[in-house]
Amino acid sequence: MMNLTNNRQEILDQITKDVKEHQCSLRAGCIQPVPGEGSPKSALVFVGEAPGRHEDEQGRPFVGPAGKLLDKLLLSIGLKREDVYITNIVKCRPPNNRDPKPDEVAEHADFLQRELELIKPKLIVLLGRHALVKFLPDEKISNCHGKAKRKADQVYFALYHPAAALHNPNFLQVLENDIKKIPILLKKIDELPLQAETDKQIKSPEKIVQETLL
Ligand code: URA
Repeated sequence: MMNLTNNRQEILDQITKDVKEHQCSLRAGCIQPVPGEGSPKSALVFVGEAPGRHEDEQGRPFVGPAGKLLDKLLLSIGLKREDVYITNIVKCRPPNNRDPKPDEVAEHADFLQRELELIKPKLIVLLGRHALVKFLPDEKISNCHGKAKRKADQVYFALYHPAAALHNPNFLQVLENDIKKIPILLKKIDELPLQAETDKQIKSPEKIVQETLL
């Protein structure tokens, strides 16, 4: 009988295949689609914006300078990239690395949803403002980086994008500090009451998250 891990890997392989074979409005202008990669049973999913030149050339997410920094940041909390799952909101490189347009984000939304429904991570780490607004449209990265936010029963944690940190030493320092909170946060998430329970309490779920998490 197939075990759960094999089954998850099979479903993830199907998503990867679908990403590689899809057609979208960005597809003609890039070399290849870039599927997410990593462990389908990870507690942590990192969501970036869109592939850049290096990712487009290699067909893998976060393999250029921003990816090298992400690898280093993961190592600083004792993780390798194979331990987590890394993906993007848009799977094809926008021309000249321009920001993805809302209709392009929408075209790719189904892939991301399938990845997240399969993995069901404890924590979704949002890398930069594009990933942030996709999940928490009312938030600003300058206010909410390094803070846990819960929406429904999913906990999110926003970080400055590693590419932004490569251009700004202040952001780099903030990013290095923020990422260190992830191991603590993962432990605390297990202790959180379910949203359905917090809804019945006088304190708002948001307040409980702030008090209980970071
Ligand atoms: N920036 C992103 O947002 N994603 C990548 O895969 C690489 C750089």
